[in-house]
Amino acid sequence: NKQQILRNRPHGLPDENTWELIETETPTIGENEILVKNKYISLDPAMRGWMNDAKSYLPPVQIDDVMRALTVGEVVESKNDKFKKGDFVCGTGGVQEYTATDGRGFYKVDPNLAPLETYTGTIGMPGLTAYFGLLEVGALKEGETVLVSGAAGAVGSVVGQIAKIKNCKVVGIAGGAEKCAYLVDELGFDHAIDYKNEKVVHKIHEYCPDGVDVYFDNVGGEILDAALTAINKNARVVICGAISQYNATEKPKGPANYLSLLVNRARMEGFIIIDYAKRYQEGLSQMGQWVAEGKIKPKETVFEGIENFREIFLKLFSGDKKGKLVLKV
Ligand code: NDP
Repeated sequence: NKQQILRNRPHGLPDENTWELIETETPTIGENEILVKNKYISLDPAMRGWMNDAKSYLPPVQIDDVMRALTVGEVVESKNDKFKKGDFVCGTGGVQEYTATDGRGFYKVDPNLAPLETYTGTIGMPGLTAYFGLLEVGALKEGETVLVSGAAGAVGSVVGQIAKIKNCKVVGIAGGAEKCAYLVDELGFDHAIDYKNEKVVHKIHEYCPDGVDVYFDNVGGEILDAALTAINKNARVVICGAISQYNATEKPKGPANYLSLLVNRARMEGFIIIDYAKRYQEGLSQMGQWVAEGKIKPKETVFEGIENFREIFLKLFSGDKKGKLVLKV
């Protein structure tokens, strides 16, 4: 059983001392347990936060523990009535080939309805994040103007597509001309801003002359600050993530334009998807239906090999991928 073990907490980006690949015996299972052979490991920006020794919504991964990650796998042995051999399941299986678990937090998925890797993305945690973040936290109304950063990623690409289903005007912010073309040409965004080559604040005002009603923020930092200059009265700013800050080695500066919230009687609100756990089924069936109807196009970039975990994980921060980043075991 190949496993990636957390050996050192990184300062900045994870390096070659952060994880160690080890090989152990395939686990045996006890009463009520299942053995899952992991097929796909979801690589998520949140994993960077889980490595810090700091209070957060989940306890940090402990040194010498298997790196925590969401997974999709196949049940290869079962002593649990809820699962049988051959079932495919999603859960927090970790960066390893096999997971022995009592099944808590695991749920079944159907490989006939969508490719297994899609359950790490659009019909999985990132899709749910887009769904509840935009519709509940963002309280989106038909016809509004939505601005989303990290727009070509797992969450952002779905946020924009849901907003189009709701007849909204959608502007995405992403790195590079190719990602921007993908947003407009393939996903139906109205406009895209290439933050690596364009002046973001100018482009936001050019593309949103009537202002922004919902800003869905995945990146934080300067892009959040630029967005705050364009929000409308009673706008909602959804703080989903702040990837530009996750590897910062110095204390980040706060947004300079936050008074715009006061002037516009606007609301900025953070949320964590696990707070919606009781409604996952609702979200997953809606996402599944939209995918089946062709209204939302799932996108994954899949790389192979648990040995290459670190190098592939770093693509989250270099942006060298589109849609959901997935590791095939
Ligand atoms: P993505 O698939 O969007 O991957 C990360 C992307 O971020 C990269 O592709 C890159 O795209 C962009 N990026 C990286 N560094 C920077 C930077 N310095 N400035 C601007 N953009 C950058 O990840 P997810 O969709 O999985 O997650 C998006 C955000 O949502 C993250 O912040 C994550 O932590 C958060 N999240 C929050 C959840 C919650 O419950 N609140 C749940 C799930 C995710 P590009 O090429 O465009 O730069």
